[in-house]
Parts: sequence; C-alpha cells; structure tokens
Amino acid sequence: MAKVEFVVPSVLNKGNGEKKISIEADSLQDAFSKVSDNMGEDFRRKVLDLNGKPRSLINIYINGKNMRFGGGMSTPLHDGDSIYILPAVAGGAPSAAEETGEEKPVEDKARLTGDDLQRYSRQIMLEEIGFEGMEKLRSAKVCVVGVGGIGNPIVTQLTAMGIGKLRIVDRDVVEISNLHRQHLYTDEDIGRVKVEAAAERLRRVNPAVEIEPVPVSVSKYTADEIVKGFDIVIDALDSVDARYALNDACIKYSIPFVYAGALGMLGSVCTILPGKSACLRCIFPALNEDDMPTCSTEGVHPSVLYLVGSIQVSEAVKIITGQQPTLVNKLLYIDLNELSFEKIQMSRQQECPSCGVSGGKEAEGKGLAVAQLIIEELCGRDRGKRTWTVTPAEPATINLNTVIRNAESLGYQVKTRGNLGITAVNPNRLSVSFLSSGSATIVGAKDEQDAVSIYNTFVKDRN
Ligand SMILES: [Zn+2]
Repeated sequence: MAKVEFVVPSVLNKGNGEKKISIEADSLQDAFSKVSDNMGEDFRRKVLDLNGKPRSLINIYINGKNMRFGGGMSTPLHDGDSIYILPAVAGGAPSAAEETGEEKPVEDKARLTGDDLQRYSRQIMLEEIGFEGMEKLRSAKVCVVGVGGIGNPIVTQLTAMGIGKLRIVDRDVVEISNLHRQHLYTDEDIGRVKVEAAAERLRRVNPAVEIEPVPVSVSKYTADEIVKGFDIVIDALDSVDARYALNDACIKYSIPFVYAGALGMLGSVCTILPGKSACLRCIFPALNEDDMPTCSTEGVHPSVLYLVGSIQVSEAVKIITGQQPTLVNKLLYIDLNELSFEKIQMSRQQECPSCGVSGGKEAEGKGLAVAQLIIEELCGRDRGKRTWTVTPAEPATINLNTVIRNAESLGYQVKTRGNLGITAVNPNRLSVSFLSSGSATIVGAKDEQDAVSIYNTFVKDRN
C-alpha cells in the first residue's frame, strides 16, 4: 500500500472548499473507492458513470499527469503521489508541426504620439507595461476565436489597450439570449453576424486598432488559416472539437494559445506554450462534445465570463510584453460560488497526440477524407428548436446576393443584411443565417438531412 494524498476540489465537495484526503491505496481504482466511501453518494454520482468508470468530463491527474495517458484506473500508486480530480468546464481540440519563420516587421504604428500617451497613460505608468511594453502591444497581432460570452470582454479590453491588429473569428449571429452577457451588442444587433457587429463597435472603442472580422466556423479544416501569422491565439469558444482544432493548429505553428472555458458559476484558464508546456490534449485528452454540458442547459453567470476573459487578456499581455505568463502548466479553476481560485499543476505528456513525441502525424492522418459539408447540432434556440450549423469543408466564398435572391423566392423575409452575412426567416419561423464564408446556422430544421437540404436550396444558383 502506498501513502498518497487525494485532492477533491471545492466544486466536488459541495462548495465546502478544497479537501485533501490522506489515504493508503495500491491503485487509482483502490484510491477512488476509498475516497468515494469517505465523500458519499453525491460525489460518487458526479464522478463515476453507472459502470463505475470515471465520466468522460472527469479528469484525474497523478502528480499532474492525466491518468488517461497512464494505466487508467489500474495505475499503481507510490508513496507521496498526489491525485487531483477535476471536471472539465466546457471545452475541446487536435493537429500538426512546423514554424512559420515569418519575420515580424516593426511597424510605424508602434511609435506613440502625444494623444497615444494620454490615451494609454494609465497602463504606461504600470511597471509591468511601460513605454516599451506599450510599443510591443502596438505591434502585436492577436487572434481571438469566439466573440460570445468570453470573447466580448477579451476583445473590448485588447482593443481599448491598443493592440496592433485584432482578428475576431465567429460563425454565429446575435440572439436575444446573448445580450445579458455579451455587452458589445444591443437590441438592434439581433440577427446580425456577430463579427460584423463587434468590429463596428470595436472600431469606435479605439480607431487606431486594426480589426479584422472573420465569419468562419472553426474546424480542423479551417484552423490553420485562422491562426497562421498571429503572435497569440485566445480561445473563447464553446465547442470541444473546435478547441482541439485550434490547439493543434497553434502547436503546428508554435503560437502561444490561451485556453478558457466557463459554465454556470465555474471557469478555467490555462496558457499553452507549444513545445514547452502541457497543451489542451495533454490536459484533457478525451473530451467528448456530446457529453459536455452547455450554456443553454446549465446557464452561465456573466461575472465568471469577465473573470476568465480578463485573466486571458492578462496572460496575453504578459506574453506580448516579454514576461512569463502565470498559467503555464497550471490550470486555474475558478468557482464563483466560493470565490475560490485553485491552480492545478499540469505537465506535458510524451504520449500526447498533438504535442507529444509521436504527435501531429497521428492526428493529421485522421479525417480530411470525407464530407464536403460539416454538420453540427447546436444547443436548441428560439424556445428549444433544433439548431444546426452547416459549413463547407473547404473554405468557400458565397455570393450573398444569390443567397438573398433564393431566400426571397422561397418565401423568406430577409431580416438583417450585412457585408458578412444575412439572416432570413420564413412564415413557419424557420430561421437561416448565412455567412459570406459559406457557413450557415439553421434554427428549426427537423433533422440533419433537412438542414442540409435547406442549406442547398439557399446556395443553389438559379440563373
Ligand atoms: Zn499535448
């Protein structure tokens, strides 16, 4: 028997703070059953499935290593081992490896004018930023993926702080249920493409920042083009698969990647330095999109989104200004109920399919073969109607005029019309939002087949 420490985070301890339990056990399985006896039935139900196996969103670490890389539940324990158990807070991502070798030109806009000195004076005063840091911010290129709940506070702060170039990526349109937490948008923006509405607003926040709206759905097919050439990528997504794709693209191009997830009253943040620290797949190797709870069923507190988004900005600014980010190999776990902030030690895994020794190739070999269209079901919208996104596997440019013509001839009314996308609704309240990148969100389709056929009628060229 080995003497080990088993750490139960506050969230699995009914909010009564982190609990450390010293036990003697010879395997992880053994440790688990002893801790479950100690913690009670509620704990057992949250952590284990009906077969007594840990649920897919539960991650167990032995000395910072996810047990899925080791021997699973039969992993033997040794004296002094520390076991940590953690449910993932929404989230997911896979892929490849080479440097861009691109030179970063020192741009003129890094030079600060008198107005700039006034605008940014309160951050230039900070020892951590100063003049030099400010010039670095002014020439930095940051890509924020997702301008929803987490993305809103991130892009607002980065723009106001005077980042050089900001690319914002999102495939969605603004809905009324977004407005309690996504404060860039107003009632007038409902139905508009998020990146278009956000870009307009951000340009008013700080006209000196170059804002590039990209209305594209993130997948393993699009992730490379999204991240290439950027200094930092910030994850503000709500999908596991899209996150894995971003993680892999960032590993491939050696771009620092700041991850976050948030749901309910919980949030987590981690900073990934490719090749140097644990990546998302080292930390969460086997998340399954279908098992993840979502904001539409669990709700989310706006405050937790501001907390995680702000911490991501602070990590990104540290990287840009040449300081060591704090959350490298550490997963920060925030519980707003307790107002607890726990940092959990993580480590890079040789077996990781993305950043490990055998990495990249395995992940690359999979996929890419099939699917001209990628279809995903989203959380139900408009009082629970089934909702789908349909995205061309190859990046495409769609003629929005054709889409509008088709929509009108099918009896739809075009509700919003922008340069980057449109939303049209028919008398049966079937709602279709089309992006110029060819992605569409269809609210009210009966099933996947129905969503695809609606998609096809919209893009069909009737000339
Ligand atoms: Zn990894």
